Amino acid sequence: MRTRTQVGIVGAGPAGLLLSHLLAQRGIDSVLIEIRSREYCEARQRAGVLEAGSVALLRAAGLAGRLDRHGIEHGGIYLQFGGERRHIDFRDLTGKTVTVYAQTEVVRDLIARRITDGGAGAIQFSVTSPQVADLDTDRPVLRYTSQDGVRYEVSCDAIAGCDGFHGICRTAVPADALTIVERGYPYAWLGILADVPPSTDELIYAHHARGFALHSLRTPAVSRLYLQVSPDEDIASWPDERIWAELSERFALPGWTLRPGPVLDKSITPMRSFVSAPMRYGRLFLAGDAAHIVPPTGAKGLNLALADVAYLAPALDGLLHGRPDKAEAYSETCLQRVWRATHFSWWMTTMLHRTPGADDLEAPLQLAQLRYTTTSRAAATSLAENYTGLPLNADSAA
Ligand SMILES: Cc1cc2nc3c(=O)[nH]c(=O)nc-3n(C[C@H](O)[C@H](O)[C@H](O)COP(=O)(O)OP(=O)(O)OC[C@H]3O[C@@H](n4cnc5c(N)ncnc54)[C@H](O)[C@@H]3O)c2cc1C
Repeated sequence: MRTRTQVGIVGAGPAGLLLSHLLAQRGIDSVLIEIRSREYCEARQRAGVLEAGSVALLRAAGLAGRLDRHGIEHGGIYLQFGGERRHIDFRDLTGKTVTVYAQTEVVRDLIARRITDGGAGAIQFSVTSPQVADLDTDRPVLRYTSQDGVRYEVSCDAIAGCDGFHGICRTAVPADALTIVERGYPYAWLGILADVPPSTDELIYAHHARGFALHSLRTPAVSRLYLQVSPDEDIASWPDERIWAELSERFALPGWTLRPGPVLDKSITPMRSFVSAPMRYGRLFLAGDAAHIVPPTGAKGLNLALADVAYLAPALDGLLHGRPDKAEAYSETCLQRVWRATHFSWWMTTMLHRTPGADDLEAPLQLAQLRYTTTSRAAATSLAENYTGLPLNADSAA
């Protein structure tokens, strides 16, 4: 079946869903396709920390009803190293905060709103054989087979590739039109979601001789915790008791105990830095994880995805109405923020993780940097500024 839309969007993660909403607010039609089911998208455990700018963006887009009720505002983080736990006070250093609100909730809010505004067909879930073509023409094409078996060919003015790292959009660009910069790290995160109130009021990032650990949370009743493990670790060799014992050891501090509880979800995530540039090829615009990946230590992945589409919506609006300047600047504008976040995420990661087989220099250098970061106001402010997020370009909301 041949159809027509203004913007074809591939992927109903945070980037694709928010883009479709921002375009609808501007009166621009889109077709949003997703290979997974709604239930799968709403249950997928990933990020959980929103920068101040992301919260403001969701509020300005009329999407923050539940976020404002259930999000937990945090004014800082703890850095733990050498037997001490020190607080970095974001409010004092930058006047800004972050908000703990799970990506699953962001996705649920966005899906519900798209369906309320656009009807049941606003998002085509569980599609198969998605394809993009004719990207270097003014009429790129999106093809897919719907859940009920109908093959669609959608003629578009532009296509947004919001289909994550393993999607089809980036790989549809000729290899010689992209420059890819990538580094894999020699460690991964074993993450658990636990049905137990957090043992901390704010996130704890712990440097430890046995490897990094992070105590995060999702709600006042649900904790999220991570352990640095080997990238080829077999999750089967980590029964719950072993995970809690290892977490207790890495977070150990006199007078403080970690509350264990039932594990609801368990997974291992590899860590990589990856940037593919430019973020545009002809009428295809890449956004979010489709174009860049950061290790999760700086809590930047979700925030970068939201920032990309905050730029992309006005850029596409302009392109469709004879004002292509923002579309032309899209890649360069986003990449500046992407590289800043890539550096910050790399810096946090390498300051806190133990490299397997590292020489004797690594740990003392890390400890010196951690001491400096927690005792120098200038160094602490730099961390706080990056963690709470750079301001979104004033143009983005225009
Ligand atoms: C396991 C894991 C854990 C993470 N943990 C953290 C964390 O703790 N903190 C943090 O800040 N960040 C974390 N991240 C990163 C963060 O979740 C991502 O940066 C964020 O999801 C990016 O949003 P996105 O919309 O660009 O991509 P995604 O959320 O990946 O969404 C892409 C969507 O496209 C769909 N899709 C894929 N291929 C196709 C196709 N061919 N056709 C149609 N649809 C397709 C996918 O099913 C998905 O729904 C994590 C990522 C992963 C993978």
